[in-house]
Amino acid sequence: MKAVVFHGVGDIRLDEVPEPTIQDPTDAVVRLTASAICGTDLHFVRGSFEGMEKGTILGHEGVGIVEAVGPMVRNVRPGDRVVVCSTIACGSCAYCRAGYFAQCDNANPGGRRAGTAFFGGPKPTGAVNGAMRGFG
Ligand SMILES: [Zn+2]
Ligand SMILES: [Zn+2]
Repeated sequence: MKAVVFHGVGDIRLDEVPEPTIQDPTDAVVRLTASAICGTDLHFVRGSFEGMEKGTILGHEGVGIVEAVGPMVRNVRPGDRVVVCSTIACGSCAYCRAGYFAQCDNANPGGRRAGTAFFGGPKPTGAVNGAMRGFG
């Protein structure tokens, strides 16, 4: 599929990337139908926000249709229309259960003290590939 990929400051390309797959039992694969550019994306493109890794797919937010879910997913199923929020959260840690999703203990691969994880951001936030992909 096509995706908007960060290659460097001022160097954003529409590349061919692999189809996403279920990697963890709590994953869902969403066929994106729309995504948006926000001000944070512009910081990455201009270089005024550091730490972007070459090859990261941009895009924090999107909407789409669930295509597949892992065996532990209970709240959505294939065919559901969903909003993909920029903030990544596990949904089951103490912070998530209290509604503080941006403080999730498990979402950031850098560990509990690494801060909020979000899609399409720099290394300290994941780096997790984002939502600008899959259109057409
Ligand atoms: Zn954003
Ligand atoms: Zn959590």
